[in-house]
Amino acid sequence: MDNHSFFRDKLLEWHAGHLRPMPWKGERNPYKVWLSEIILQQTRVEQGLPYYEKFVAAYPTVHHLAAAPEDEVLKNWEGLGYYSRARNLHAAAKYIAGELSGKFPDTYEGIRALKGVGDYTAAAIASFAYDLPYAVLDGNVYRVLARFFGIHTPTDTPAAKKTFAALAAKLLDTAKPGAYNQAIMDFGATHCTPRQAACPSCPLREHCVACQSGMVNALPVKSKTPEKKDRFFAYAVFYHHHHTWVRQRNGKDIWQNLYEFPLIELPALPADPAALPEMLLRHCFPGGAPPGTQIRGISRPYRQTLTHRVVTAVFCEIDLPESLEMVDFQKNILENYQRIEHFKLKKILALPRIIDWFWQEKDVTLRFK
Ligand code: SF4
Repeated sequence: MDNHSFFRDKLLEWHAGHLRPMPWKGERNPYKVWLSEIILQQTRVEQGLPYYEKFVAAYPTVHHLAAAPEDEVLKNWEGLGYYSRARNLHAAAKYIAGELSGKFPDTYEGIRALKGVGDYTAAAIASFAYDLPYAVLDGNVYRVLARFFGIHTPTDTPAAKKTFAALAAKLLDTAKPGAYNQAIMDFGATHCTPRQAACPSCPLREHCVACQSGMVNALPVKSKTPEKKDRFFAYAVFYHHHHTWVRQRNGKDIWQNLYEFPLIELPALPADPAALPEMLLRHCFPGGAPPGTQIRGISRPYRQTLTHRVVTAVFCEIDLPESLEMVDFQKNILENYQRIEHFKLKKILALPRIIDWFWQEKDVTLRFK
């Protein structure tokens, strides 16, 4: 038996004895397979599971998803992060329901053409839903192949992509591509894991180059990861008759279409945070803050790590005078914001996680007031 057949046979044998039942496993409905694959991108299975169930219940067909307002879809996605996935999911649902008359594409190319679907996701959907012979290639697969075959090419290079894609395609069991893809993904996620590969009990160890040469922890190789850029946000949280002001983020930046308070972005947080409320008031009321405006407090810094950014945010809570009339707001930037009751903020709008953290802590204080 050559190395390739050994790898394939042992892997499928291992999988038969280690089935991890999940609601989307064995699913052939391409819409549901697609939902699960988008939700599981960059997400742990345990975290994605309740979202999958929520989406299937709220949007049982692609038509339901297409007809839903985007704000509602983002709200249902809240907490899962990488919101572009939800926006793309929604856009693709509209495309399928409209342009394709509700028929989910049934070729690799058709699936790959959907917004938010890359090579990996297209191969997963094509093989799980239609048993088409496309091999998946994600972090788990790179790791298993790099270790078993002893490949030292850095996995985040174009050269590696070619090498690994060719190898993965060669290894694929074309008679049951869905089962094979599931097997290698599960094996990477639970057995040949990044830090604690279970080599002593591994059915592949006999021919595994990394295991036989003591290179398990050195593989796969990655080139240097770029440093994350720091960003500093100061938010103004206004209080006025139980209302505050928010607007939807737009443009090509983080948190597209999520809601946030009035904001100034700074090159760094000032050494003395007491300066922040004044800076925010000058920004929000260029003609001068209304008399009687009071600073309620300044939060601690909150920090959220994104793929390429680390965002630090401070929230300045500001009481506007109760006597202020709505007409007074027409001379300042709050005019461009949406005035919303405090209790509705969390209930109906999708917020960036960092704002959600702050607001949840506020809820605790408000309850005890
Ligand atoms: S022997 Fe160890 S490194 Fe090799 S495939 Fe098995 S778990 Fe992974």
